[in-house]
Amino acid sequence: MEASANFRYHIPVEDIPDEGLCLSYDDAPGLLAGIIDGPDPGRVLRVNACLNRVDDFIYVKGSIDVMMNLTCDRCLKIYPFEVKAPFAYLLVPGSAEKEGFDAANRADAEVLTYNGKEAPIGDILKEQILLQIPMRHVCNEECKGMCPGCGADLNDELCRCKKDMDNGPFSVLRGLKA
Ligand SMILES: [Zn+2]
Ligand SMILES: [Zn+2]
Repeated sequence: MEASANFRYHIPVEDIPDEGLCLSYDDAPGLLAGIIDGPDPGRVLRVNACLNRVDDFIYVKGSIDVMMNLTCDRCLKIYPFEVKAPFAYLLVPGSAEKEGFDAANRADAEVLTYNGKEAPIGDILKEQILLQIPMRHVCNEECKGMCPGCGADLNDELCRCKKDMDNGPFSVLRGLKA
């Protein structure tokens, strides 16, 4: 177990011994940039991955634990969202497809074609993160969001629209009527 070494986006095939290679990282700098918007996209808490190789075919099995900083669709606040996801991939060298390798029979793992030289661990993890980002970003199910009129965060403050109306041009008319 190569614990907490510096994260590598690519693992050269020749670095994977016959008995396999297990890696463990407690950070993966830069992995979230470009996936999650904002100045602080969050951070990778843990990556575990074991690589086993037969010739140029590599089986990668592992898990990723990420704390993302997402922006709430309703109130626009940034909130933390943790994802823990297991993954399994079979990396197939590009040349194998031409030789008739049948990917359809490999339902236990995602099949990914690679260049036959370096296992693209960074790309695999990025894909996992993308798959785990929810479609709808809500800081919590009860979030009341922002008032489209006055912009008040309705979780913390009252809507000011009504008050604005009282002081607006129509208050004069209301005064006449009284
Ligand atoms: Zn919210
Ligand atoms: Zn309002």
